[in-house]
Amino acid sequence: MRTFHYSRPREVGEAVELLAGDPRARVVAGGTDQVTLLRDGVRAPSRVVDIGGLPLDRVTRLPDGGVRIGALARNAPLDETVREHYPLLAQALASGASPQIRNMATFGGNLLQGVRCPYLRTTEFPCNRRDPGSGCAAVAGDSAHHAVFGATKACLAVHPSDLAVALVALDAVVRVVGPDGRRSMPVGDLHRLPGDAPQREHNLGHGELIEAVELPPQPPGRRVRYLKFRERASFAFALVSAAVAVDLRGGAVRRARIALGGVAAKPWRATGAERALTGRKLDDGAARAAARAAAEGAEPRPDNAYKVQLVSRVVRRALNDAGGR
Ligand SMILES: Cc1cc2nc3c(=O)[nH]c(=O)nc-3n(C[C@H](O)[C@H](O)[C@H](O)COP(=O)(O)OP(=O)(O)OC[C@H]3O[C@@H](n4cnc5c(N)ncnc54)[C@H](O)[C@@H]3O)c2cc1C
Repeated sequence: MRTFHYSRPREVGEAVELLAGDPRARVVAGGTDQVTLLRDGVRAPSRVVDIGGLPLDRVTRLPDGGVRIGALARNAPLDETVREHYPLLAQALASGASPQIRNMATFGGNLLQGVRCPYLRTTEFPCNRRDPGSGCAAVAGDSAHHAVFGATKACLAVHPSDLAVALVALDAVVRVVGPDGRRSMPVGDLHRLPGDAPQREHNLGHGELIEAVELPPQPPGRRVRYLKFRERASFAFALVSAAVAVDLRGGAVRRARIALGGVAAKPWRATGAERALTGRKLDDGAARAAARAAAEGAEPRPDNAYKVQLVSRVVRRALNDAGGR
């Protein structure tokens, strides 16, 4: 049996101190992912800091009309104003996991959940994320669910969060607190591509906690859609998903944000697709051009080549839905 110290601090400063004081400490929030990883021996911390008692569950309006969502806000009962003002966020949350899991899962935990690669989660297999330098079993194994953008031979895994994909399309910012104080970063900078150090899953330092996510106000008339393609309707992680947020002026696309899920180790901004839309009427012709551009640069493996066509189809359909067709 593996033992560890367990702490449940009541203040953010105390949590940071506990974490920073132990290089092998890990955070648990809702526990829906972390507890599984501890149980299965994928992670073996010397201390678990349970942040569930911290006052970080509030949702507040910001003076600029945006919203601040505490890291411990649950993935389920989002307040009505948020649902009304940020339908893209509501659609992404509703597409993730099951109602029971969403009731436990927190915003911070969802963003920092581990990749769902079976080779990470089954300790008999080598995995560079779990045991740096041991190799990536997916390279010679089953890579059907793996990345088509930004992968390396060190790691082919994809990031599983639906929420993160929507937040990137909404230009959200993560507020972080740690031993050196407070800082912020765009959600798009939170996760990392594997490079040759896939064990570093995100850009938080040891002892840093997500305190909140902040969303800017939504321009009037913004068209949005979160579309997720998965293997079963009840609950499953995305094979490919797309979050689109399109701002129109005088009938033409003034600005577009398109982020993809299920295709890379971080939410993947389809910047070529965004450019292909800008200045055009949001019709099926523009959606097709953006869909083609979204798949450009993909580097599939024989097992997951289907994802390239899926990227195009999901992007086209999401844009057509957003345009009301
Ligand atoms: C059957 C099943 C299906 C699922 N399907 C989906 C799906 O379709 N889409 C989807 O997006 N997700 C899905 N999930 C994942 C689920 O949404 C996550 O497990 C959940 O969001 C994690 O939140 P949590 O609060 O339980 O995090 P925890 O399990 O407590 O923690 C997860 C990670 O985040 C870190 N962490 C947590 N909070 C903070 C913080 N504030 N600051 C710093 N680090 C922190 C922890 O250290 C840990 O590494 C599924 C899970 C299950 C079990």
